[in-house]
Amino acid sequence: MRVEDLIVYGKSRVHSDFAKMILADLLNINSLELLTCLDKEVPEDLVNTYKEKISKLEEKKPVQYVIGNVNFYGNRFIVNKNVLIPRFETEELVENTLNYIEDYFPGNINIIDLGTGSGCIGITLKKRVPNSQVTLLDFSEKALEVAKENAKNLEAEVIVLKNDMLDNINDKFNIIISNPPYIKTDEEIEDIVKDNEPHMALYGGIDGLDYYKKILESAKTCVKDDYLIAFEIGDTLRNDVIRLAETHFPEATIIAKKDMQGRDRMIFISNKNID
Ligand code: GLN
Repeated sequence: MRVEDLIVYGKSRVHSDFAKMILADLLNINSLELLTCLDKEVPEDLVNTYKEKISKLEEKKPVQYVIGNVNFYGNRFIVNKNVLIPRFETEELVENTLNYIEDYFPGNINIIDLGTGSGCIGITLKKRVPNSQVTLLDFSEKALEVAKENAKNLEAEVIVLKNDMLDNINDKFNIIISNPPYIKTDEEIEDIVKDNEPHMALYGGIDGLDYYKKILESAKTCVKDDYLIAFEIGDTLRNDVIRLAETHFPEATIIAKKDMQGRDRMIFISNKNID
C-alpha cells in the first residue's frame, strides 16, 4: 500500500491526526513530511504494524502508548503502560525550574526527581544542566526500566534509585523536583486516563495531598543550605500545598505559578529570594 492509501485507511477508523502521527512515526519522519511522499510504497511489515496500531487506537488506547514515545522538551521519550504520559504542564515545571537554576544556582548542583516515571523531568534537567548530578527515583521497578532506557537513548548520565520518595534517604540535594500523583480518590477523570495510565502514578489520596505531605515531611533533612523544591500541583491544590510548605519550611520563599492556561500548577519553595 502507498502512504496515501494508509492515511485513508487510518482516517476512516480513527482521528486523522492520530493516523498520520502513527504512520509518520513508523516511517521515521514528521507528520508534515508525509504529504511529500503520498505515492511512496510502504513495506508490508510496516503496513501490518500500522494496522495493528490503528486497531489499538480503536480500542481506546492512548495514542502515546500506541506510538510508544512522546516528545518532551525537544527530546523523544519512550513511554509504555508502566509510566505516566508526560504532559505539557510538566514541560512548564521544567522550564521554570531551569530558569531558577540559571538565576540562583550557578555552581555544581545535585538534583533529585521524585516519582520520575519515564524520567522526563530529571533527564531533561540533566541534558540542560550537564554539570549537575541527577538522581531519578521511583517506587516502580517497571517505571525505572523505562527511565533507564530513556537515559541511555538520550545519553544522560544519571543515577537511578528505587525508593519510596525520600524515606531513609541520607543524601542532601539542591533541587528536589516532583510531579507526584495528585488526583483525588473521588475525582472524575477522563476514561482514557483512568483505564490506561498507572493508578500509582495518578492518585494522591482523598485530598490529593498524600505525596506532598510525604515529601515535605522528609525534605527538611534532604536539602542543602541552598535549595529549591519544585512541585507540579493539581489546579485546586495551591492553597493546601502552600500551607504544607509553610509548615515544614517556615523560613522559605514560596512561589505559586500558573500554567499557560492560567491554572495554578506549580509551587516553588526555596531559601533563595526567588520570584
Ligand atoms: N515524572 C513523570 C512525569 O512528570 C511521572 C510523574 C508521575 O508518575 N506522577 O511525567
